[in-house]
Amino acid sequence: MVRLAALTMLLTVCALLLAVCAGCGSKLAGPAGAGDPYFPQMGNGGYDVLDYNIDLTVDPAAGPVDGTVLVRAAATQDLDSFDLDFVGLHVKSVQVDGRAARFERKGQELIISPPVRLRAGSTFDTLVAYSGTPQPLHAADGSILGWQRSGDTIFTLDEPEGAATWFPVNDTPLDKATYTFRITVPEGYVAAANGVLAQNIANGAGQTFVWQMKEPMASYLAAVAIGKLVLKEPQDPSGVPIRNYFAEGLADAATKAFASTGDVLAYYIDTFGPYPFESYGVAVPDADTQGAMENQTLSLFGRNVVEKDMTDPTGDAIFLSHELAHQWFGDSVTLAHWSDIWLNEGFATYCSWLWIGHSQGKAAFDKQVSDARDAVVSQKWPAPGKAPANDLFNGGVYDRGALTLHAVRLTVGDDAFFRILRTWADRYRYKNVTTADFVSLVQEISGKDLHALIDSWLYDSTMPALPGGGL
Ligand SMILES: [Zn+2]
Repeated sequence: MVRLAALTMLLTVCALLLAVCAGCGSKLAGPAGAGDPYFPQMGNGGYDVLDYNIDLTVDPAAGPVDGTVLVRAAATQDLDSFDLDFVGLHVKSVQVDGRAARFERKGQELIISPPVRLRAGSTFDTLVAYSGTPQPLHAADGSILGWQRSGDTIFTLDEPEGAATWFPVNDTPLDKATYTFRITVPEGYVAAANGVLAQNIANGAGQTFVWQMKEPMASYLAAVAIGKLVLKEPQDPSGVPIRNYFAEGLADAATKAFASTGDVLAYYIDTFGPYPFESYGVAVPDADTQGAMENQTLSLFGRNVVEKDMTDPTGDAIFLSHELAHQWFGDSVTLAHWSDIWLNEGFATYCSWLWIGHSQGKAAFDKQVSDARDAVVSQKWPAPGKAPANDLFNGGVYDRGALTLHAVRLTVGDDAFFRILRTWADRYRYKNVTTADFVSLVQEISGKDLHALIDSWLYDSTMPALPGGGL
């Protein structure tokens, strides 16, 4: 009894101390990162973004952008300050719930202190006004990320950390949100973005294109393409509206290169389940984009990809089908951590092999498998589950990642394997996943514990042999 009384007294004192502490002016700051070991500064903590409303006036020929971004978010803790990721550009003002907020910038963090404490569970609106000419980032692997301009053509390629070059963002795949883009460009230019074109408004000397992405989207998939673009809307047998935006001079070549989009969509819907978004299409700006990118509902392909890599039937099919497969695997079902990049790239690569097999026959599929196996050996890529942060997109995550799925398929059989793919797309639609989620789904569907097999494919320095020794 005495001990209990003493304990009660101690607890009371602690509670009082906590209450005093909470009221004594200590600042409650949201964490400056989202906990990704590869990119510790990316993303932030303390809130969950619900919606971005991005309003940009763009001068494509000269480069400057004038923007406001309204970020609607729910606080997940009490907050005296919180961060957005934002790189470069000049921040003119920040408001929270309509009142001026103090802000400072440290590296990629835009640190915002609202005039009153935000309470856990409350929804709040942050309005950031900014201007300047966005500058792309140069990543460790030599790629260029973010907002990019070539002549009077603009495109964005954000994966993994380029989004912060053009809008203030909680730049982590874990915080998906809906988006509206209002992009004003001079007469003669077209602005394409993710989702559905809701409005096209004549606006003084230019036009405002209003795009709405109503399904949740990871920030690295946010996309804008601006240029003298022509719209092509081919019929799709599956009923998914396709709108392609091609640079004027590339329209004929691109129309030809993407003619099979509807057929691939139909095959994927049949194989993986419903298409997860309202529309699909590609943007082909008149620029060298390095590679292609699976921006949600609007994959990006550059002049270089269309003119060079899509001239042979297999290359053409691989590029087209790879980015389209990402709409299910990567965009709708998204990695939780960048170290699991094989969940994006291994899946999309394997899906493109499936399409090649479906459209060109088993020998063509087998060739993809054996070519990949040879490439993994000759190129000495690291194991796909250990992709280094500074070489995230090395060939191993594609080829050996895809071979990992093939090893699973050869072990569990086609029926279980395709049920795994369909369940993966359905159960985790618009969500985030880890390798452990995949291993447990394989076990759930197939009844087999493939933990050791998947581990050896993902993490062993030497690539295992395919089960049964065959293709
Ligand atoms: Zn990919």
